[in-house]
Amino acid sequence: MNEEPTTLHPKIDPALCIGSTACVKACPQHDVLGLISGRGALINATHCVGHGACAAACPVGAITLVFGNEKRGVDIPYVSPNFETNVKGIFIAGELGGMGLVRNAVTQGRQAVEYITCFIKDKKKSSDAYDVLIVGAGPAGISASLAAQKAGLKFITIEQNDIGGAILHYPRHKIVMTQPMDLPLHGKIKVRETTKESLLELFSGVIQKSGLKVNTNEKMTALTELPGEFKVTTTKGEYLTRTIVLAIGRRGTPRKLGVPGEELTKVSYSLLDPEQHKGHDIIVVGGGDSAVEATMSLASCGNRVTLSYRGDALSRIKPGNKDRLDKALSEKKLSLLLNSNLKEIREKDAQIEADGKLTKVPNDFVYIFAGGELPNDFLRGIGVKVEKKFGTA
Ligand SMILES: Cc1cc2nc3c(=O)[nH]c(=O)nc-3n(C[C@H](O)[C@H](O)[C@H](O)COP(=O)(O)OP(=O)(O)OC[C@H]3O[C@@H](n4cnc5c(N)ncnc54)[C@H](O)[C@@H]3O)c2cc1C
Repeated sequence: MNEEPTTLHPKIDPALCIGSTACVKACPQHDVLGLISGRGALINATHCVGHGACAAACPVGAITLVFGNEKRGVDIPYVSPNFETNVKGIFIAGELGGMGLVRNAVTQGRQAVEYITCFIKDKKKSSDAYDVLIVGAGPAGISASLAAQKAGLKFITIEQNDIGGAILHYPRHKIVMTQPMDLPLHGKIKVRETTKESLLELFSGVIQKSGLKVNTNEKMTALTELPGEFKVTTTKGEYLTRTIVLAIGRRGTPRKLGVPGEELTKVSYSLLDPEQHKGHDIIVVGGGDSAVEATMSLASCGNRVTLSYRGDALSRIKPGNKDRLDKALSEKKLSLLLNSNLKEIREKDAQIEADGKLTKVPNDFVYIFAGGELPNDFLRGIGVKVEKKFGTA
């Protein structure tokens, strides 16, 4: 059995498990769970995406869905069953609360606003503040906004980039696996498998039809608690609101390296379309699955790719990626520089320090996958409690 993921995943109690295989059959990923010595077991942990179908299917309640594992904790904000945080009036929906997947985000966004609709009815209105301010326009924020529009609430939605959230950053034509979901003002979406482009089209169609307005390119930066309401500060202004839905995901802002030349337009933090490159000298920085997958897809498009990672081994990547990387390395399809640091990016080349030596590497493009700045500091700054979970429910 490989190491348990830190994202939401099942923990099976062997004392309760009767080996019914209901969990194995229910898992949409097919290869995550299996039987070991007649008991259910997590056999391919890195493939678990936290659907949770196993827990629902277990006839004896032997499965608990947990975050983190014994070795590695994961930060999860405190959220009540009504999606409210420890700060009364501040709600969290979508992946920020720890549950990934488009369908979960859509469901939580809708449910959070349905609760708010009842909640604010009982609250005295002190000013002409908004009923709800929704931060983020990924699946959770879009769904929350549509629910607010449907309920006739006075609301505003702000998004630091553009509508779509994490979906916008999927590679071109990526197949999106999902489950039927209920989008306010639209109804049931029955697709199980779609593409990035079709899903974005579906969302923008619903937004257009409903007349929903989203303030794009506007980032929430601060919050002040006032009696009975909040003052939200953004990059474009200030708003008074009675409640807030934080639907800001967990990808956060891409972490930068802080090296000279990082501001050049040839530097990116996500790879949307590997096929746009052919015959280019490309440096990819990072040691996780996204860096490795980007490196391999760029190399397979006929580019000269160098993967630079500061660690001494790529120990976090999925076994399948490791096999493919080893094969590509043995066929000399790409270069791997471990224990290396990108020091400077220039118009035509870059300086990489490896084993204490500075080397000039020809360069047309740089892709940096150094993770995201998780919004934990932001959350704590506005008073939302964040707990580290080590394999707990
Ligand atoms: C590569 C990849 C592949 C995936 N594949 C699948 C799949 O096949 N099926 C599936 O179901 N799920 C998939 N997922 C997961 C899915 O995309 C996410 O779980 C889902 O998008 C979460 O939705 P969300 O609305 O909670 O957050 P997000 O989609 O992350 O949206 C959050 C939004 O908030 C905005 N924001 C953040 N901070 C601020 C701020 N301070 N002010 C204003 N706006 C802010 C962000 O710009 C962003 O647009 C995948 C994810 C990735 C990264």
